[in-house]
This record gives sequence, structure tokens and C-alpha cells, in this order.
Amino acid sequence: MAKQLLIGNGIVVTLGPENRVIAKGAVLVEDGVIAAVGPEAEVKPLAPQAEYLDARGKVIMPGLINAHHHLYSTFARGMAPKNPPPYTFVEILERLWWPLDDALVPGDLYYAAMLPLIDCIKQGTTAIIDHHESQSYQLGSLSELAKAVGDAGIRASLCLGISDRYGRGKDGIEENVRFLKEVNAVPAGPSRRVSGMFGLHAAFTVEDATLKKAVSAAAEFGAGFHTHVAEAASDQEANLAKFGKRCVARLRDAGILGEKSLAIHCVHIDEQEMAILSETGCAAVHNPESNMNNAVGAAPVLKMMGKGVLVGLGTDGMTSDMRSGVKTAFFLQHHTEADPRVGFCESCAMLLDNNASIIARQLGYEVGVLKPGAAGDVIVVDYTPPTPFDGNTWLGHFLFGICCGPAVDATVVGGRVLMRDKKLTMLDEEALASRCRELAKKFYARF
Ligand SMILES: [Zn+2]
Repeated sequence: MAKQLLIGNGIVVTLGPENRVIAKGAVLVEDGVIAAVGPEAEVKPLAPQAEYLDARGKVIMPGLINAHHHLYSTFARGMAPKNPPPYTFVEILERLWWPLDDALVPGDLYYAAMLPLIDCIKQGTTAIIDHHESQSYQLGSLSELAKAVGDAGIRASLCLGISDRYGRGKDGIEENVRFLKEVNAVPAGPSRRVSGMFGLHAAFTVEDATLKKAVSAAAEFGAGFHTHVAEAASDQEANLAKFGKRCVARLRDAGILGEKSLAIHCVHIDEQEMAILSETGCAAVHNPESNMNNAVGAAPVLKMMGKGVLVGLGTDGMTSDMRSGVKTAFFLQHHTEADPRVGFCESCAMLLDNNASIIARQLGYEVGVLKPGAAGDVIVVDYTPPTPFDGNTWLGHFLFGICCGPAVDATVVGGRVLMRDKKLTMLDEEALASRCRELAKKFYARF
């Protein structure tokens, strides 16, 4: 008998091109996939025996998606950089992030990943695209992350960022290949929650020979590439000095760009590079909180979107909360353009529409929309509208209400209730955090 979950007694927002807003609506999930969406009076009779999740008048919508995360970055929490504080972007990498990932050992990753994964569940983020780095522990590292994702219950596309910064590009290629074989052995479809990409750290730390080998290895799997691009101006300067090309042109010439690939950040790309992204169908991912934190500048997201580039939204590991990310994207565009007319629709589209298109290319099925056939990933957000709520007013409620409110009541992935009444149903957060703190102490001693 099919496993059925009915999420009802709420205002349903379907998202997707139709974006229906249904007062007193319900969503029926059957064997992990959405079977019906509509007024509860019509949907409930289809499954009278279904388990019932009562939204208590609040908003029922698709789970949110993070198009660029770094689950490994947990141990950086509370870490103070030694004096003098790093000033340039490369100093931030050389004095914090590279030694940090280099000090990770087997066993660290599972716990480092579980805590942000728990945050994902609490914040209603039901799918992520993660970019991993652990230079001294590459082989097998993606399987340790996949185990954490599996236990947490959300969806993820994982990859390891290949880099020649310590001369270990070969191991990086091997791990991406090994992991792609592992995930591809699982039958495709919404019940396969983890998929893989081919990761590259960034163009400036990957030699031409390694790029060539990576492209030929990825071809066997039809996998896209996930790489940081022109996060700081120094990436462009290094590529021009060493390879005689700007980042995006060099990546295109190497065969890295395409519809399944992701160019992360793109803060310092010019109009020609935007045209290349648009022509190749390669999506860009904007990470406003991270860019502001690293003081690298504001990505030209409106220009990119104007040129037809699909731009998604990520957090770059800073948080698992997409509500905070979308608000920051909106404010940053207002501030940068000094124009209160821009950025509202674009920021919401990056998160609510574009991230769904981006991750569907990785997972091979639809998420981020409530419609029959899409994955059964649904959240109930703790929001009671104080003014009329319909298709015309919805985005204002989303950005200035839902994204500013107390968070999420319930999180469901593939029909499994991972959080109900703000309580995790599967995981013991305190036990996991306690183990993570023990490992972090040992990690700091190595760092
Ligand atoms: Zn990143």
C-alpha cells in the first residue's frame, strides 16, 4: 500500500510557472512524490487514510533550495584569525579556509556536515548543492558527506573541489570519479536523494593539464562542473598572468561550461564573460552574504539576468538559511544600484524559481514546486498573514513576512516528516553537537 502524507489546513503556495495560491489548501504526497494539490475539500477524499500534518492556517510551500553550500565549514564557527587580520581575499583563503580544509580527517566530516544539515531542516531548506574541500582527506570524503546527507534526510548534489594548490589535483579527480560511480549505481528518480557533480576549486588554483583530465573524466558521466569563478579580482589577475585568459573564457575553452555546470560568485566578470555564460547555458550562483563578508564586491546579478544568464542563490557555507540569503540579495541590489525599483523580483526569482531549475539539472527530477509528479518536499512556514494574501501580494508577504518571521514549523522531504512543530523527528541535535564540539577541539589542535 502506498505511503501517504496529507499536509492540509493551510494556505498553499505552489510556486512554479503557475504559482497558484490556494486558501484552505492541501498537498498529498504518495510514496515520496506529490500526488495532488488543491483545495483540501477536493484533495482529502483522495486519501482518507493518509497520515495528516496540520498546518494550522499557516503557509504550505515547497522546500527551499541552496544552490551553493560548504557543509565542511562548520569548524570555522568561533575561530578568530590570528593577528594581523587577513586583508585580501587570497589572505583569507591562505590563512583560514585552506589550512582549515587541510586539517580535516576522516570522522570530522560527518559531524561537521550534520549540524548545517540540521539547520537546513530547521530553516526549511530541503535541497542543497554542496562544494566540498578537504585536501589531506580527499579519497572517500564525499561518501562520508553522503552518509550525513542520507541520515539528515534532505537532498543534495555533492562534489569535491579539485585543486593543484598543494599538488593534489589527481586525488581530487579520482574522488569525483569514484563518487559519481557510487551515486550513479542507485536507480535514478526522486527516491535517489543524492547526486554528484565534478568540483573544481577555482580557475586560479587548477592547472591546464588538470582541467583537461577533469573534462575527459567527467564526460563519461555527463556530469557538470561546480566551480568558484571570479570571486575576487585576484582570480582574474592570476588567470590573465598565468594563462593569458580571463576566467570564464579559459573555463569555456577547457570545456568546463555548459547547462549542467555552475559558475559560483561571478563578482568580477565583464559583459563578454556574461555573454559566454549565457551562450553556454552555464548558470551563475550569487552568494551575497559571503561576498559582503569577504568584502569582495557585489556581483552584477541584474546585468547577468538581463543578458539571459540563469542566476541562482547560495550561502557559500555561511548559513543554511535561504530566507536570510534572499533578503540580503534584495538589500544588496537596492544599495549597490542606488535604485529602490530594482532587485525585488530578481532576488525572489533567484531563490524561488532559478534554484529549482538549477537543482533539477543535477537531480534529474523536479523539486521546488508543488505539483503532481514533483518530489514531495514541502515546508510549513510559521506565518499568519496580517493583510490579504493572494497571487498578487504573495512575494511581498514572502520577503517582508515569511523571511523576517520566526522560521519553519514543519519540514518534509520525499514525504518523510523531518521536523514537526519545530521539533526534529529523526535526529538528536544535542548529541550530534556535543560530538562535533569534541572533534572540533582535536581539530583546533591540528589546525
Ligand atoms: Zn564557495
